[in-house]
Amino acid sequence: MAERLHKGEKVLRGIPVSAGVCRGKILVLDKIGHNVARRDLADAEVPEEINRLEKALLGARQQILDVQRKLAGTLGAEHASIFDAHLLVLEDPALIDEAVRVIQSEKVNAEHAFHTVSERYAAALSRVDDEYLRERVSDMRDVTGRVLNHLLGRNEELDLRHLKEPCIIIAHDLTPSKTAQMDRQNVLGFATDIGSKTSHTAIMARSLRIPAVVGLKNASEELEAGQYALLDGFNGVIIINPTDQTLFEYGQLIRKQVTLEEKLRDVLTQPAVTLDNHRVLLTANIEQAEDAKTVKSSGADGVGLFRTEYLFINRDTLPTEDEQYEAYRQVALALKPQPVVIRTLDLGGDKFLSHLHVPTEMNPFLGWRAIRFCLQQRDVFGGQLRAILRASAEGNVKMMYPMISGLDELNQANALLEEFKSELRAQNVTFDENLEVGVMIEIPSAAMVADSLARRCKFFSIGTNDLIQYALAVDRMNEKIAHLYEPTHPAILRLIKNTVDAAHARKVWVSVCGEMAGDPVLAPLLIGLGVDELSAAPPLLAQIKYLIRRLKVSDTRQLAEFALACESPSEILGRCQELAQRSAPSLFER
Ligand code: PEP
Ligand code: MG
Repeated sequence: MAERLHKGEKVLRGIPVSAGVCRGKILVLDKIGHNVARRDLADAEVPEEINRLEKALLGARQQILDVQRKLAGTLGAEHASIFDAHLLVLEDPALIDEAVRVIQSEKVNAEHAFHTVSERYAAALSRVDDEYLRERVSDMRDVTGRVLNHLLGRNEELDLRHLKEPCIIIAHDLTPSKTAQMDRQNVLGFATDIGSKTSHTAIMARSLRIPAVVGLKNASEELEAGQYALLDGFNGVIIINPTDQTLFEYGQLIRKQVTLEEKLRDVLTQPAVTLDNHRVLLTANIEQAEDAKTVKSSGADGVGLFRTEYLFINRDTLPTEDEQYEAYRQVALALKPQPVVIRTLDLGGDKFLSHLHVPTEMNPFLGWRAIRFCLQQRDVFGGQLRAILRASAEGNVKMMYPMISGLDELNQANALLEEFKSELRAQNVTFDENLEVGVMIEIPSAAMVADSLARRCKFFSIGTNDLIQYALAVDRMNEKIAHLYEPTHPAILRLIKNTVDAAHARKVWVSVCGEMAGDPVLAPLLIGLGVDELSAAPPLLAQIKYLIRRLKVSDTRQLAEFALACESPSEILGRCQELAQRSAPSLFER
């Protein structure tokens, strides 16, 4: 819908990442650092303010000690010692004595004094010509943030699981783990200043069917808690104080959506077959075991990607092998005989364990993540491999490794897998001896050596979200360069084509499980490039199936042929839009 600005409204525009419209009161998170008001004190109030500061310092100290104790229990003292540096900040005279001095001499409230002094200190530290000291700035902000939260009486970890009333969340950023915690009853939608379509926060929002807009730049500063807003996750806008006229127009949009959803319901039980009889396997991406129910009702042919890292986050300890086994088994049993592709742990990038204090990296997406992490953390990886193997006895389980960059990593992972198989055999534990192992193709080097990889695995799953960010050197989280994140870039299409050709030469099956697969504009191009399976969030599957059933595979192949010969990403995108809109116009009416 082309939205117009009506009198009295304020409109902020961002990137639409999760469809749907909602309206309600705003709740702004993360206002730290922006709204620390100054209050002048009477002389008699000064000792009490110093007392408040001391109490806040003690409170922050206690919190850090608690986290440290939990960490030492799960990961050992070595990781927990990272918090020693945080404790030292709380004793630093240059910070604490100075804040007390400011309260006394300027007669201002403790939060204002502490905030001013700590910001001055952080600014000075970030200018120092010493990398080690500069890196301490984030430690310092972490600690001073805790102290401010105590002073401001703010619950640092606002629990998104138990909000008191329905609201639209506005935040500078939301981690995927925070998003996963959202209580769907009370979180009507959310909007963030940063982020883009393929950040895991956006992926999670689509999965949970929570309307969302990201990349709004400074919404968390401009908007105030309690304002009334309408959030449009189709077009990526948030409208503050919407007029009756706007609400009426959105009413029409919602009615159109309802009609479309009714149409889409008709295809749920039908197969994903083109008009000229080409079958595409349509599977679901899931993040937790409970999602198996949604997979069934979405008409999927199984699970193409089970992102297991969500079993590891939002908790204080690592999940045990048995806990994991239960989760994998639950999905395998629920969907049997349909396939369930379990991806081994893909931590890092934008998904972190809150309790596993992995040191901050300059480039986390290029860092110690996924298979790189697992190959070095044998206990963590082993527990997961054993759990997956055990679950494979219960259904049609397949397994794949994320972030494989070349043959060595695949061989190392497979060698470990063989060790754990032998261990289970020795213990008389049953598992599927023919468990199929696949490789995610999401690093350009893997796409280039797909012929070698195809000789040692049963299937590929192309992770276009990462493949695009690495091939085009465009951070998938950064809204400032979102326009450069182009799935139709000729380089991406050639990498996909190379992967498909290498796979098919060895009778290896190819799926795409990145967000491209759930995009009705791009799915036909993937089919034309020879991809056998598309895997997307359950709420997106009906529209993809509806479209496939209105397409001819011959047209998709023509589209792919054109795209592979074309030099311009926008021209290719234009052709994709033309085919999709011509085939299923009702998907695009809004
Ligand atoms: C991908 O990279 O396309 C993918 C499916 O993995 P994730 O989005 O979890 O990184
Ligand atoms: Mg990936």
